[in-house]
Amino acid sequence: VVRIWVTGDLEAGERITASAEQAHYLLNVMRLSVGDEALLFNGRDGEWTGRIVEAPKRGCVLEVEALTRPQTKGPDLELVVALVKRTALETIVEKAVELGAARIRLVVTEHANRDHARADRLRAIAAEAAEQTGRLDAPAVVAPEPLLGILADWPPHRALMFCDEAGDAPPALQALSGRPGGAWAVLIGPEGGFSAAERAAIRALPAAVPVSLGPRILRADTAAVCALTLWQAALGDLKAS
Ligand code: SAH
Repeated sequence: VVRIWVTGDLEAGERITASAEQAHYLLNVMRLSVGDEALLFNGRDGEWTGRIVEAPKRGCVLEVEALTRPQTKGPDLELVVALVKRTALETIVEKAVELGAARIRLVVTEHANRDHARADRLRAIAAEAAEQTGRLDAPAVVAPEPLLGILADWPPHRALMFCDEAGDAPPALQALSGRPGGAWAVLIGPEGGFSAAERAAIRALPAAVPVSLGPRILRADTAAVCALTLWQAALGDLKAS
């Protein structure tokens, strides 16, 4: 069944007006019509069935009917990723959603790509990935912030899995094993890597846990997938029971 992420409140009888893109997708791509149903979620109220009740020109109104899945929270895992090439960043956002990132923060570093990532395009990718992957929420994509600012304001309770390609960090699973779960972030640098000053500033953070992702240098998108998977396997919802 088709799933769409909406912003409105979800409760029986509520009427939801789909966006123009969603209306096109429901009516033209999926060829649904009045009377057909879709699954709706908004990140707050769980997943509900919605029945198409009106299909005005280029529009689509659904009436919320029944709760199919109560809202649940995934792991409190953030991805902090440096601005890389546009296509790589779009891949990273999509994979981070599939791998359960609760929030995605874009960061500007010395070697970051200047062709700025369009945050609204990345948010649309995040919503589509959440629909496809069966999540009950779509992570926020936070507009680019400077790395040193992020570090200065770092919340002490959130551990930071610092993916450090410098080569002297312990293997990720070893560094993570035995640590408490809870609030974590994964930090991935740009194609040009972190500068020495940036590496020192990150390692100076008490919350930082430097990790190696192996003896090979991974592209940022590969590193993001690898790091998120390792974290989920060690401390998250891929953890062996
Ligand atoms: N240009 C750099 C590599 C940057 S790779 C160089 O050649 O050294 C982009 C990011 O992916 C890195 O900043 C790091 O966060 C992560 N990464 C890639 N390979 C890694 C590895 N083997 N261990 C830890 N992090 C890695």
